[in-house]
Amino acid sequence: MNAFTLNRRTIMLSAVVGAPTLFVAGRGGASAQAPHPPASGNAGHYRFRVGDIGATVLSDGVIGGPPRVYASDAPEAELQEVLRRAFLPTDHMTLNLNTLLIETGGRRILVEAGAGATMGPNGGRIFRNLAAIGLGPADIDAIVISHTHPDHIGNLRTASGGKAFPRATVFVPRADWDFFVRNDPDLSYMPVPEDFRRRFAAAIKSSLEPVTNDVELYDAGAEIVPGLTTIVAAGHTPGMATLLVHSGNDQLLLTADLAYHPVVNVDNPWRPGPDRDKDTALASRRRIFDRAAADRIPVLGFHFPFPGLGRMLKTDGGYAWVPANWQF
Ligand SMILES: [Zn+2]
Repeated sequence: MNAFTLNRRTIMLSAVVGAPTLFVAGRGGASAQAPHPPASGNAGHYRFRVGDIGATVLSDGVIGGPPRVYASDAPEAELQEVLRRAFLPTDHMTLNLNTLLIETGGRRILVEAGAGATMGPNGGRIFRNLAAIGLGPADIDAIVISHTHPDHIGNLRTASGGKAFPRATVFVPRADWDFFVRNDPDLSYMPVPEDFRRRFAAAIKSSLEPVTNDVELYDAGAEIVPGLTTIVAAGHTPGMATLLVHSGNDQLLLTADLAYHPVVNVDNPWRPGPDRDKDTALASRRRIFDRAAADRIPVLGFHFPFPGLGRMLKTDGGYAWVPANWQF
């Protein structure tokens, strides 16, 4: 495993920032065949509608790490208790990768590309799930990225360094492009060794490199296509946007990484460790959660348990996550 030995400490630390442990091994080394995890037999796609717009959640699989990472300011005993009461492991939190395909105006638009092999062995399922609904990567016309962390862009690059979605225009928030791609970002806010920050930063540049000529930068607030509007939600990264899908009276709010897991970031108000500017992120979270709760807007949480659909309820002290009923 080139320049890189997997041991328990490495795995823990890589999970802390989601640093691309397997990115290095999978892209450069002898074990370059990695990316396709075994099929599970369970559905990884979920279809519904937002007015006239066809919508399908396509799972790219899961990532995860120590719960502390996603609840940086939680008192330890309280965090453990909350996880136990939610019947969740206390030493590992699993996060889903719920990309959304929308079909509108004759175009197929993917919101988030997913992690691929950049953040562990359990990503990269989106291609199989696309195939399950009769589509291939060449059927995707556009990909909208909420922010440029590796778990949202990893699938843009194939294992051999090419474009995974050959025809797609890739919409990227301008402030993230400036911070992560045009410059060498100061990631000292991430509480991990410099080595891991370097790999995290490298995974971002590397994932976007094959699509450089297909990137269209946007400023949050812009409408990407009729029915898909971006909303300013900075803090997690400089440019992160949340998105609103809308058609007629129907809406769907995509909260991106305002919250990682509803148990720690919605039902409890704890702050995600990877937020670059925690106060700005908190203000974005409250503003957008308040809107979702007040207007009773259906919500899709990118990292929430699949398919990630539900609603925000305002409670005395904060919010509660109410998962949507499954529709057949
Ligand atoms: Zn994420």
